[in-house]
Amino acid sequence: MISSQIQLASYLFASILFILSLGGLSSQESAKRGVLYGIVGMGIAILSTVLGEGVSGHIYIIIAIAIASVIGIMLARKVEMTSMPQLVAILHSFVGLAAVLVGFGSYLDPKTQALTGTPHTIHLVEVFLGVFIGAITFTGSIIAWGKLEGKIRSKPLIYPGRHLVNIALVIISIILCVFFVQAHGTGGMIYLYIMTAIASFIGVMLVMAIGGADMPVVVSMLNSYSGWAAAAAGFMLGNDLLIVTGALVGSSGAILSIIMCEAMNRSFWSVIFGGFGAGPTGPAMEVSGEVTAMDHAEVAELVKNAQSIVIVPGYGMAVAKAQFPVHEMVERLKKEGKEVQFGIHPVAGRLPGHMNVLLAEANVPYDIVMEMDEINDDLSDVDLVLVIGANDIVNPGAQDDPNSPIYGMPVLEVWNAKDVIVMKRSMATGYAGVQNPLFFKENTNMLYGDAKDSVAKINGHLTE
Ligand code: NDP
Repeated sequence: MISSQIQLASYLFASILFILSLGGLSSQESAKRGVLYGIVGMGIAILSTVLGEGVSGHIYIIIAIAIASVIGIMLARKVEMTSMPQLVAILHSFVGLAAVLVGFGSYLDPKTQALTGTPHTIHLVEVFLGVFIGAITFTGSIIAWGKLEGKIRSKPLIYPGRHLVNIALVIISIILCVFFVQAHGTGGMIYLYIMTAIASFIGVMLVMAIGGADMPVVVSMLNSYSGWAAAAAGFMLGNDLLIVTGALVGSSGAILSIIMCEAMNRSFWSVIFGGFGAGPTGPAMEVSGEVTAMDHAEVAELVKNAQSIVIVPGYGMAVAKAQFPVHEMVERLKKEGKEVQFGIHPVAGRLPGHMNVLLAEANVPYDIVMEMDEINDDLSDVDLVLVIGANDIVNPGAQDDPNSPIYGMPVLEVWNAKDVIVMKRSMATGYAGVQNPLFFKENTNMLYGDAKDSVAKINGHLTE
């Protein structure tokens, strides 16, 4: 058992570690340190809460933590890098569900039932709000999981008047909150249940209305919601650390959502409410021209003759786990005195920072990994661009075709380079489901096949 002063000091220390953790995660060099701060902070937070005054039934808590840890470790070991976004989405849903259950428990708790006057009213509003945010996060995250896993179609589900329906549901929830606060004893439970059903429906509809290229923002937005749900749970439980941690997650998720919207040239509000503003009004532009393909030996020849090379990785590189042979190729080319750089699109892959994580995993030096804005203007001076498993992020239709669902999203202008090679298995579309006119350009050649296999074969030819 520890005193409440020691617990408070530990909470403060853990909060500082969480802030340092977020700071560390902002760059690749310090990311590992950031994760470590987070782990230590969470360890301190759990220990000081479990050992705090008024906590009983330690044996049950230890058993629960042990079971959850085993499941967590097994999942984390098993999950493929490409399935990370789905895992993150489903974990967000747990936070939402936890906030709902904490809300129900907190309302029925005899200790809080004994509160009177203003503190009681404030507590009831906290419970209502916490359950509301939690339920939206819970169902919204499950839908996001379904869309990312391909179980639910990614295309936005938009029906006329849905904004009015959502606004009406929020107004009904506010009225229910008034009844809830005025109810005696545990009589407000029925209002809480009805509102939970309404908020769950809002969560489903909000995320169903968003899709295609806007999904990255949904993931970071639900991350933010899960933070606010945790903060609300912190208020209900009177736990300062949970409030601070929830607020940190909530605000950092919101900032990330805004940064991603800016990177994609989307309005934050139009993304989170799904389909606000002008959408495509006509059929997509016809793509004309001929697609030409090369074999591995021909591509290796192009690589040998190029002095400056830019590699643009995408989701396919993650699927193929091609980062390792790619690193091998880069090392060889650098030794030969060629200038090699990577161009990273902010929404490449399926997770913010997905490509950076993969390249770091393969020990690619950070100084040759460029953000889209840093490299786009220089692409016209580049001899060869190797597009490895990327599609939407190099689609010129985002600039030329106002009817394209990704119109307005900034893309890597790889077609400005002298030659472009696109490595993918077929002519299939990418996540947004749109045809890519890049494949039909004169200076572009396809290299069909699994990206890892293709890069390994090119490496083989380069060694010959
Ligand atoms: P895309 O999904 O547009 O394209 C990936 C391409 O990789 C596919 O066309 C596929 O073509 C190819 N591919 C798949 N497997 C392999 C393989 N083994 N070897 C070679 N190629 C392969 O990915 P991008 O990275 O270009 O764009 C990301 C998209 O995902 C954007 O639309 C973005 O909005 C969205 N998104 C991003 C998130 C994020 O946070 N970053 C989250 C959710 C969505 P083929 O089948 O022919 O091989």
